[in-house]
Amino acid sequence: MINAAGDPRCPCGGQPEGATLSACCGPYLAGESWPPTPVTVMRSRYTAYAVGDSDHLFRTWHPATRPTDVSLDGSLEWLGLEILTSSEGDVEGVVEFAAHWRSGEGRSRQAGVMRERSTFVHRAGRWFYRDGVELT
Ligand SMILES: [Zn+2]
Repeated sequence: MINAAGDPRCPCGGQPEGATLSACCGPYLAGESWPPTPVTVMRSRYTAYAVGDSDHLFRTWHPATRPTDVSLDGSLEWLGLEILTSSEGDVEGVVEFAAHWRSGEGRSRQAGVMRERSTFVHRAGRWFYRDGVELT
């Protein structure tokens, strides 16, 4: 997954598809720029989960709903993201996605898909994750 330049494909799958981390979510995780749309916030947050960047999760979480301490479940390995639908208004955006995961070793290995409808709000010129509802 690492190309000659040592720049892996972005965990979110890349936008456009196959884009490397430095060309996709990398600058957002590094705090160099802010993802410009609800979908790019969603992708960068997925990538933050995949690489274990709790700072980026905290930073992109709306202050009204974010936990005081964002902890990551290190036992989960994130395998891929699918954006199912998205919409964007002036102050609110919605993204439905499916995130594939696996955990455990050997006989205790498990895998699954988490589907969620996430709501993002525009605040002070930036999009933030507000909350999500699990889709069944
Ligand atoms: Zn990405």
